[in-house]
Order: sequence, then structure tokens, then C-alpha cells
Amino acid sequence: MFARNYVRDLRRLLGYRELLALIAKASEIWPRLNRESVNIPQPARMAEMAAVMHLHFKAAPYRGPEGLALRGFYVDHGQNLLKRPLVYVNTAHHPVAVVTTFCHEIGHHMASDIFRGAGELVHLFVDADYAAHLDDSTELAADVIVALAAYPEPLARKIFGCQTPLSGLVAQAGALGDEQLEQVRERVEGHFGVNFKSMKSAPQKLRYLAGMIHFAKLRWALLEEFDT
Ligand SMILES: [Zn+2]
Repeated sequence: MFARNYVRDLRRLLGYRELLALIAKASEIWPRLNRESVNIPQPARMAEMAAVMHLHFKAAPYRGPEGLALRGFYVDHGQNLLKRPLVYVNTAHHPVAVVTTFCHEIGHHMASDIFRGAGELVHLFVDADYAAHLDDSTELAADVIVALAAYPEPLARKIFGCQTPLSGLVAQAGALGDEQLEQVRERVEGHFGVNFKSMKSAPQKLRYLAGMIHFAKLRWALLEEFDT
């Protein structure tokens, strides 16, 4: 994911009309999406939101062999295979990671109508497997919801919108500038309360940092490609 050109991947996988349809659907649940930051809901609030969307919802720490590697999943109801779609989030993670997973899985639900028939019925969210999300329209659409929730447009413009032509070229090669990354880190630590320094597991810290960079690059690409 570090070498990927996010603008190119976004252009390949998601059209502007699909993006608008996705935002319109998500705005039914988050009316201020992309205008203001989405508040971090507690699992009980997530359950209420899921109920409004007629989803089966489960939020619990995952005790299976994949442990923390599994962030959550979405199961489409497909050809009425299930009565209702199913969302699961692994609450063994940091609260911000839990909310990120929730937004991602809800994003799948939003995308399921738009990309009807595309992709798999079962979508596993495996930690740090972000490169795979850049090869699948439904995964990328789900991540778009996360990126819009974390960086509403006014904030995204402030952080990512003022590049010099030179830094623009660098960004197109797949990198964010140091200054932008610093602002992203401040946002994630300051607003969302993630303290990377206090994380005891180095591999887990790296996975969270990879997620931070992935969603920031995606948010930048949305601004670059769709001016949104
Ligand atoms: Zn997914």
C-alpha cells in the first residue's frame, strides 16, 4: 500500500456517481457525514444504529485463532441466504479501531446496493491487509466511508488541499508529505485519543500506523480525484 497510487486505484474502482450514491446512503445514518466529524459511538449506540439499518450486529472480543488480526466482517444476505445482513466487530481492539471497523462494515452495507452482485458475500476485515482493499470496489467503498467519517471535507481541505505543484507530484507517486502526515498523526492522537507511544505491541502499533496512513491517503485521493 505504501507504493500504491491511490488516485489511480480510486479512479479505476469507484466512479463519481457511485461515490455520490454512497454518500447519500451513508447520510441517512450520519446526516453530517463529510461536513463534521462523526462522534465515536459506544457499542450500545452502534447496536442501535445497526438495528435502524435492519442488520444483525455483534460486538465482542474475538477469541478465535486469528486473534487481533481479525477486525470484523460483513456478511451480505445475498439471495436471502441470511434473513438480514450480519455485521461483526472485534472489540478487543482500541476503541478507535473498533469504530473504524464499524464504519467499514457499515460501508459494505451501503455499497451492497450500489455494487449489487459484485464481490464476495462474506467480507473479512483482516488487520493491515489494506493493499487488498485497493483491488476491490466494495472494499474500497467501505474504506471511503471511514475516510469521510474521519476527515470531513473542511478538515481534509485544510490538511491535504494546499500542496505545491512539486509536492503534488510526490503525492501522486503515492506519498503524503511530512507536514501532512504530522497533521494526520495529530488528528488521530488528539481527536481520537490514540497514543501510539503507549502501545506495548510493536506489530500492533505498526498495523495501526499502516491503517492511519491508508485512510489518510485515501482521503487525500478523494479530494484529488473528486474534489470532495
Ligand atoms: Zn471489508
